[in-house]
Amino acid sequence: MARYDYDLGIIGGGAAGLTAAAGAAQFGAKTILMENSGRLGGDCLHFGCVPSKTLIHTASVWALARRSKEFGLPGLALPPVDLGSVMDRVAEVIETIQHHDSPERFCSLGALVCFGDPAFEDDHVVNLGGKSISARSWIIATGSSPALPTIDGLNDVPYWTNETVFSARTLPGRLIVLGGGPIGCEMAQAFARLGSKVTIIEFLDQILSAEDADMAEILKNKLMSEGVLIHTNTKAIRVENRNKAILLTTGPARGEGTEQVLEADALLVAAGRKPNVDGLSLEAAGIHYTAKGIPTNDRLKTNISHIYACGDINGVMPFTHVAGYEGGIALSNAVLRLPRRADYTRVGWCTYTSPEIASIGLNEKRAQKEGTRYSVIEELFSQNDRALAEGEPEGKIKLLLDNGGKLLGAQIIGVHAGELIHEWILATNGKVGLTTMAGTVHLYPTLSEISKRAAGKYFASKLFSDKTRSILRLLFNLKGRAC
Ligand SMILES: Cc1cc2nc3c(=O)[nH]c(=O)nc-3n(C[C@H](O)[C@H](O)[C@H](O)COP(=O)(O)OP(=O)(O)OC[C@H]3O[C@@H](n4cnc5c(N)ncnc54)[C@H](O)[C@@H]3O)c2cc1C
Repeated sequence: MARYDYDLGIIGGGAAGLTAAAGAAQFGAKTILMENSGRLGGDCLHFGCVPSKTLIHTASVWALARRSKEFGLPGLALPPVDLGSVMDRVAEVIETIQHHDSPERFCSLGALVCFGDPAFEDDHVVNLGGKSISARSWIIATGSSPALPTIDGLNDVPYWTNETVFSARTLPGRLIVLGGGPIGCEMAQAFARLGSKVTIIEFLDQILSAEDADMAEILKNKLMSEGVLIHTNTKAIRVENRNKAILLTTGPARGEGTEQVLEADALLVAAGRKPNVDGLSLEAAGIHYTAKGIPTNDRLKTNISHIYACGDINGVMPFTHVAGYEGGIALSNAVLRLPRRADYTRVGWCTYTSPEIASIGLNEKRAQKEGTRYSVIEELFSQNDRALAEGEPEGKIKLLLDNGGKLLGAQIIGVHAGELIHEWILATNGKVGLTTMAGTVHLYPTLSEISKRAAGKYFASKLFSDKTRSILRLLFNLKGRAC
């Protein structure tokens, strides 16, 4: 006889929670999913990936139109952008995808969706709307929210975060973006391309601080060429609102130095994320958590072995595809009792600026941090025929190899890097070596040829060496260079 109301309870109806709910219900587990926002889909659908990528695409259409003369077309006199109409399309795309994430669909799969504010009563029981609901296992998948930096006056001025920017109706003439991470850079470029004068304020010494400096530098140059001002090593000190303008005082990130006042019409705060733990009464269940989130082991278990934490809430890798991956692993462990473990070395990620920056495995920064010896092979997009045909010569692919030529990591900065990286993600997951990559006939003319050429470079120095040439000369009586 069942001791609990449900086999599996899930808190949070975003990427991680929905993946786990759909899988568990289809395996026949009695599943309940609790969501506090009144709709399913989470950050990715409503305030994250979907609206940002829609906006980025719209902005790239505009940027391409502005470049018409480069392609031999007539120059276009482009009118100002109506941001309201741009955001209407963003809302339409969200609405279309929302149908896929409807409570009815999940009910048809066999999972009950309930809206409300869940709070743990103990490690098996959660209170929802005054009702105690028990489950044998729980998955916490409540995601993250924008973290607000400590800046004097921030609470007294209007500002956007990712939760409000996609509801904006008027394109600001001048926009300050606080934070040069992936979200800050993506939004800065999109608004600049739509017509705002954008300034990025970044505390660290480079934008996209997780990426290698040479990769970030390529993006920085591109952003600056499109008119974005970038202040690295800079701290936002105080902000005030004067005559409808936002005045932001900045200074050096560390030590003393001259302060500077920047003026803008809007401020976007994109300065990191914080885990959504408020209101869950995690203490009542004895669940440990920190300012970074709820720590888990590689089976996604919290310190309470039948309670799992997946997605942004565990603070490991804040991406939708990772949230889905983790939801599947927690589901295997909790429902199927299969001891599956998360392996983040097999997972890639991408920042969807133009050019995009996509990665899998080690980059130089991470290799140096963990003391791994490596060599680097690079191939430029300016050597790729398709990139030239499309007028997108910026960027490169960079492979990190160990002494034996085994792939440690791949990074690509360039057009469609987020698509191109999948060949390397597959290679990593399938343990495919450089020989196969170099020997695989890639279609011409494609951007993907850059991967084959980079792999081929590793063998070229060996294949066409003096030693090989002298052996061949001897064997086949070759005559040598003609000119
Ligand atoms: C602007 C932006 C752009 C992004 N772009 C990308 C991208 O291009 N690619 C990518 O991979 N990732 C991207 N991300 C990250 C991605 O959105 C997150 O990693 C992903 O949404 C995490 O999924 P999750 O299931 O952990 O959380 P979410 O999808 O946020 O789901 C959490 C759910 O829990 C609910 N919830 C919160 N608290 C409670 C509570 N107390 N009780 C009940 N329910 C609760 C929330 O309402 C939400 O529905 C982006 C993020 C942002 C902000």
